[in-house]
Amino acid sequence: SATIEIRGLCKAYGQQVAVDDLSFTVLPGQVTGFVGPNGAGKSTTMRIILGLDALDAGSALIDGRRYQTLRSPLCHVGALLDAAALHPGRRARDHLLWMAQYNGLPGRRVDEVLEQVGLTSVARRRAGTFSLGMRQRLGIAAALLGDPGVLLLDEPVNGLDPEGIQWIRGLLRSLAADGRAVLVSSHLMSELEGSADHLVVIGNGRLIADTSVSSLLAAA
Ligand code: ADP
Ligand code: ADP
Repeated sequence: SATIEIRGLCKAYGQQVAVDDLSFTVLPGQVTGFVGPNGAGKSTTMRIILGLDALDAGSALIDGRRYQTLRSPLCHVGALLDAAALHPGRRARDHLLWMAQYNGLPGRRVDEVLEQVGLTSVARRRAGTFSLGMRQRLGIAAALLGDPGVLLLDEPVNGLDPEGIQWIRGLLRSLAADGRAVLVSSHLMSELEGSADHLVVIGNGRLIADTSVSSLLAAA
Protein backbone atom coordinates (compact mmCIF):
# COMPACT_ATOMS: atom_id res chain seq x y z
CA SER A 1 0.00 0.00 0.00
CA ALA A 2 1.14 3.51 -0.81
CA THR A 3 0.89 6.98 0.68
CA ILE A 4 1.08 10.46 -0.87
CA GLU A 5 2.77 13.10 1.29
CA ILE A 6 2.60 16.79 0.46
CA ARG A 7 4.74 19.00 2.70
CA GLY A 8 5.04 22.79 2.53
CA LEU A 9 4.34 22.75 -1.19
CA CYS A 10 4.67 26.08 -3.00
CA LYS A 11 4.24 26.92 -6.67
CA ALA A 12 3.86 30.21 -8.52
CA TYR A 13 3.48 30.95 -12.21
CA GLY A 14 5.19 34.32 -12.47
CA GLN A 15 3.30 36.58 -10.05
CA GLN A 16 0.37 34.15 -9.83
CA VAL A 17 0.63 31.99 -6.70
CA ALA A 18 -1.02 28.62 -7.47
CA VAL A 19 -0.05 26.60 -4.37
CA ASP A 20 0.93 28.25 -1.08
CA ASP A 21 2.58 26.22 1.72
CA LEU A 22 0.25 23.26 1.28
CA SER A 23 0.60 20.11 3.40
CA PHE A 24 -1.59 17.00 3.53
CA THR A 25 -1.39 13.23 3.38
CA VAL A 26 -3.38 10.76 1.29
CA LEU A 27 -3.62 7.44 3.11
CA PRO A 28 -4.02 3.98 1.58
CA GLY A 29 -7.47 2.41 1.82
CA GLN A 30 -9.15 5.80 1.68
CA VAL A 31 -10.78 8.06 -0.85
CA THR A 32 -9.49 11.56 -0.14
CA GLY A 33 -11.62 14.30 -1.67
CA PHE A 34 -9.62 17.33 -2.84
CA VAL A 35 -12.06 20.24 -2.86
CA GLY A 36 -11.78 23.88 -3.84
CA PRO A 37 -13.21 26.37 -6.35
CA ASN A 38 -11.81 26.63 -9.87
CA GLY A 39 -8.32 28.09 -9.72
CA ALA A 40 -7.72 26.90 -6.13
CA GLY A 41 -4.62 24.91 -7.11
CA LYS A 42 -5.92 21.32 -7.31
CA SER A 43 -4.65 20.51 -10.80
CA THR A 44 -1.32 22.18 -10.13
CA THR A 45 -0.86 20.03 -7.02
CA MET A 46 -1.71 16.87 -8.99
CA ARG A 47 0.62 17.79 -11.84
CA ILE A 48 3.43 18.37 -9.33
CA ILE A 49 2.79 14.97 -7.67
CA LEU A 50 3.06 13.44 -11.17
CA GLY A 51 6.28 15.28 -11.97
CA LEU A 52 4.56 17.14 -14.84
CA ASP A 53 5.28 20.49 -13.25
CA ALA A 54 8.20 21.75 -11.16
CA LEU A 55 7.69 22.87 -7.55
CA ASP A 56 9.21 26.00 -6.02
CA ALA A 57 9.47 24.75 -2.41
CA GLY A 58 8.41 21.83 -0.23
CA SER A 59 7.92 18.26 -1.36
CA ALA A 60 5.39 15.93 -2.98
CA LEU A 61 6.30 12.28 -2.37
CA ILE A 62 4.81 8.89 -3.14
CA ASP A 63 6.02 6.35 -0.59
CA GLY A 64 8.87 8.68 0.22
CA ARG A 65 9.96 9.05 -3.41
CA ARG A 66 9.52 11.64 -6.11
CA TYR A 67 7.44 10.43 -9.07
CA GLN A 68 10.39 10.99 -11.39
CA THR A 69 12.45 8.40 -9.50
CA LEU A 70 9.86 5.58 -9.63
CA ARG A 71 11.06 2.72 -11.81
CA SER A 72 7.69 1.71 -13.29
CA PRO A 73 5.55 4.79 -12.62
CA LEU A 74 2.33 3.35 -14.10
CA CYS A 75 2.50 0.49 -11.56
CA HIS A 76 2.73 2.96 -8.67
CA VAL A 77 0.49 5.81 -9.76
CA GLY A 78 -2.47 6.04 -12.11
CA ALA A 79 -3.89 9.39 -13.10
CA LEU A 80 -6.85 10.91 -14.90
CA LEU A 81 -6.03 14.54 -15.64
CA ASP A 82 -7.98 15.54 -18.73
CA ALA A 83 -10.15 12.90 -20.36
CA ALA A 84 -11.08 15.31 -23.13
CA ALA A 85 -7.48 15.17 -24.36
CA LEU A 86 -7.78 11.54 -25.59
CA HIS A 87 -6.82 11.10 -29.25
CA PRO A 88 -10.24 11.24 -31.00
CA GLY A 89 -9.27 9.07 -33.99
CA ARG A 90 -7.92 6.17 -32.02
CA ARG A 91 -10.01 3.15 -31.06
CA ALA A 92 -10.46 2.77 -27.29
CA ARG A 93 -8.74 -0.61 -27.13
CA ASP A 94 -5.84 0.51 -29.37
CA HIS A 95 -5.29 3.55 -27.14
CA LEU A 96 -4.90 1.27 -24.11
CA LEU A 97 -2.80 -1.30 -26.02
CA TRP A 98 -0.41 1.43 -27.07
CA MET A 99 -0.13 2.66 -23.46
CA ALA A 100 0.41 -0.88 -22.16
CA GLN A 101 3.09 -1.59 -24.74
CA TYR A 102 4.86 1.68 -24.15
CA ASN A 103 4.99 0.92 -20.44
CA GLY A 104 5.96 -2.74 -20.75
CA LEU A 105 2.65 -4.03 -19.36
CA PRO A 106 1.03 -7.27 -20.59
CA GLY A 107 -1.70 -6.83 -23.24
CA ARG A 108 -4.19 -8.88 -21.19
CA ARG A 109 -4.39 -5.93 -18.77
CA VAL A 110 -6.15 -3.98 -21.53
CA ASP A 111 -9.14 -6.32 -21.63
CA GLU A 112 -9.20 -6.48 -17.83
CA VAL A 113 -9.42 -2.70 -17.38
CA LEU A 114 -11.96 -2.35 -20.22
CA GLU A 115 -14.12 -4.84 -18.33
CA GLN A 116 -13.51 -3.03 -15.04
CA VAL A 117 -14.86 0.28 -16.41
CA GLY A 118 -17.65 -1.30 -18.46
CA LEU A 119 -16.33 -0.43 -21.93
CA THR A 120 -15.83 -3.95 -23.31
CA SER A 121 -18.70 -3.69 -25.80
CA VAL A 122 -17.40 -0.41 -27.28
CA ALA A 123 -13.70 -1.26 -27.15
CA ARG A 124 -13.35 -1.01 -30.94
CA ARG A 125 -15.07 2.35 -31.30
CA ARG A 126 -13.04 5.51 -31.77
CA ALA A 127 -12.64 7.74 -28.71
CA GLY A 128 -13.96 10.69 -30.76
CA THR A 129 -17.41 9.04 -30.92
CA PHE A 130 -17.56 8.64 -27.11
CA SER A 131 -19.72 10.68 -24.76
CA LEU A 132 -17.93 12.60 -22.02
CA GLY A 133 -18.85 9.88 -19.53
CA MET A 134 -17.34 7.20 -21.77
CA ARG A 135 -14.18 9.26 -22.23
CA GLN A 136 -13.92 9.57 -18.43
CA ARG A 137 -14.23 5.78 -18.18
CA LEU A 138 -11.55 5.30 -20.82
CA GLY A 139 -9.26 7.71 -18.98
CA ILE A 140 -9.86 5.78 -15.75
CA ALA A 141 -9.16 2.49 -17.58
CA ALA A 142 -5.80 3.94 -18.66
CA ALA A 143 -5.06 4.99 -15.08
CA LEU A 144 -5.76 1.43 -13.88
CA LEU A 145 -3.54 -0.35 -16.45
CA GLY A 146 -0.56 -0.79 -14.14
CA ASP A 147 -2.76 -1.79 -11.15
CA PRO A 148 -1.31 1.16 -9.21
CA GLY A 149 -1.36 1.65 -5.43
CA VAL A 150 -2.08 5.36 -5.88
CA LEU A 151 -4.74 7.01 -8.04
CA LEU A 152 -5.10 10.71 -8.84
CA LEU A 153 -8.35 11.70 -10.51
CA ASP A 154 -8.85 15.34 -11.48
CA GLU A 155 -12.57 16.23 -11.66
CA PRO A 156 -13.65 12.74 -12.82
CA VAL A 157 -17.38 13.47 -12.44
CA ASN A 158 -17.29 16.86 -14.15
CA GLY A 159 -20.14 16.97 -16.66
CA LEU A 160 -21.46 13.49 -15.87
CA ASP A 161 -25.13 12.61 -15.40
CA PRO A 162 -26.31 11.29 -12.00
CA GLU A 163 -25.93 7.71 -13.21
CA GLY A 164 -22.32 8.34 -14.25
CA ILE A 165 -21.59 10.04 -10.92
CA GLN A 166 -23.07 7.09 -9.07
CA TRP A 167 -20.93 4.70 -11.08
CA ILE A 168 -17.72 6.63 -10.32
CA ARG A 169 -18.66 6.70 -6.62
CA GLY A 170 -18.89 2.91 -6.56
CA LEU A 171 -15.64 2.54 -8.46
CA LEU A 172 -13.79 4.88 -6.07
CA ARG A 173 -15.13 2.94 -3.09
CA SER A 174 -13.97 -0.39 -4.50
CA LEU A 175 -10.54 0.95 -5.50
CA ALA A 176 -9.96 2.23 -1.95
CA ALA A 177 -11.38 -0.95 -0.41
CA ASP A 178 -8.57 -2.82 -2.21
CA GLY A 179 -6.09 -0.70 -0.23
CA ARG A 180 -5.31 2.01 -2.74
CA ALA A 181 -4.71 5.65 -1.88
CA VAL A 182 -7.22 7.61 -3.99
CA LEU A 183 -7.10 11.39 -4.39
CA VAL A 184 -10.09 12.80 -6.26
CA SER A 185 -10.65 16.47 -6.95
CA SER A 186 -13.86 18.40 -7.38
CA HIS A 187 -14.95 22.03 -7.27
CA LEU A 188 -18.20 20.83 -5.67
CA MET A 189 -18.19 19.26 -2.23
CA SER A 190 -21.54 17.60 -3.04
CA GLU A 191 -19.99 15.57 -5.88
CA LEU A 192 -17.80 13.76 -3.36
CA GLU A 193 -20.64 12.94 -0.95
CA GLY A 194 -20.93 9.23 -0.42
CA SER A 195 -17.49 8.46 -1.78
CA ALA A 196 -14.87 10.39 0.23
CA ASP A 197 -13.53 9.15 3.60
CA HIS A 198 -11.41 12.22 4.05
CA LEU A 199 -11.61 15.81 2.81
CA VAL A 200 -8.82 18.23 1.99
CA VAL A 201 -10.27 21.65 1.20
CA ILE A 202 -8.15 24.38 -0.40
CA GLY A 203 -8.65 27.95 -1.55
CA ASN A 204 -6.14 30.26 -3.24
CA GLY A 205 -3.56 27.49 -2.98
CA ARG A 206 -3.83 27.28 0.81
CA LEU A 207 -5.20 24.58 3.10
CA ILE A 208 -8.63 25.45 4.53
CA ALA A 209 -9.63 22.13 6.08
CA ASP A 210 -8.19 18.64 6.45
CA THR A 211 -10.67 16.32 8.13
CA SER A 212 -12.14 12.85 8.11
CA VAL A 213 -15.73 12.76 6.87
CA SER A 214 -16.86 10.74 9.91
CA SER A 215 -15.64 13.38 12.37
CA LEU A 216 -17.21 16.09 10.21
CA LEU A 217 -20.57 14.28 10.31
CA ALA A 218 -20.24 13.65 14.07
CA ALA A 219 -19.76 17.40 14.61
CA ALA A 220 -22.74 18.34 12.45
P1 ADP B 1 -7.77 24.17 -10.01
O1 ADP B 1 -7.28 22.87 -10.53
O2 ADP B 1 -8.12 24.12 -8.55
O3 ADP B 1 -8.87 24.73 -10.83
P2 ADP B 1 -5.26 25.18 -10.98
O4 ADP B 1 -4.21 24.39 -10.29
O5 ADP B 1 -5.62 24.80 -12.38
O6 ADP B 1 -6.56 25.22 -10.06
O7 ADP B 1 -4.84 26.71 -10.98
C1 ADP B 1 -4.32 27.37 -9.84
C2 ADP B 1 -3.91 28.77 -10.24
O8 ADP B 1 -2.72 28.69 -11.02
C3 ADP B 1 -4.93 29.51 -11.09
O9 ADP B 1 -4.82 30.88 -10.76
C4 ADP B 1 -4.44 29.23 -12.51
O10 ADP B 1 -4.85 30.23 -13.39
C5 ADP B 1 -2.94 29.24 -12.30
N1 ADP B 1 -2.24 28.38 -13.28
C6 ADP B 1 -2.37 27.03 -13.40
N2 ADP B 1 -1.55 26.57 -14.37
C7 ADP B 1 -0.92 27.67 -14.88
C8 ADP B 1 0.04 27.84 -15.92
N3 ADP B 1 0.52 26.82 -16.63
N4 ADP B 1 0.48 29.10 -16.14
C9 ADP B 1 0.02 30.13 -15.43
N5 ADP B 1 -0.88 30.02 -14.45
C10 ADP B 1 -1.35 28.81 -14.17
P1 ADP C 1 -8.46 23.17 -14.41
O1 ADP C 1 -9.52 22.35 -15.05
O2 ADP C 1 -7.61 22.42 -13.48
O3 ADP C 1 -8.93 24.44 -13.81
P2 ADP C 1 -7.56 24.80 -16.52
O4 ADP C 1 -8.64 24.56 -17.51
O5 ADP C 1 -7.53 26.00 -15.65
O6 ADP C 1 -7.45 23.52 -15.59
O7 ADP C 1 -6.15 24.71 -17.23
C1 ADP C 1 -5.88 23.83 -18.28
C2 ADP C 1 -4.43 24.02 -18.68
O8 ADP C 1 -4.13 25.41 -18.84
C3 ADP C 1 -3.46 23.50 -17.61
O9 ADP C 1 -2.37 22.85 -18.24
C4 ADP C 1 -2.98 24.74 -16.90
O10 ADP C 1 -1.65 24.59 -16.45
C5 ADP C 1 -3.07 25.80 -17.95
N1 ADP C 1 -3.43 27.09 -17.35
C6 ADP C 1 -4.38 27.33 -16.42
N2 ADP C 1 -4.41 28.64 -16.10
C7 ADP C 1 -3.46 29.23 -16.84
C8 ADP C 1 -3.00 30.56 -16.95
N3 ADP C 1 -3.50 31.56 -16.22
N4 ADP C 1 -2.02 30.84 -17.82
C9 ADP C 1 -1.49 29.85 -18.56
N5 ADP C 1 -1.87 28.56 -18.50
C10 ADP C 1 -2.84 28.25 -17.65
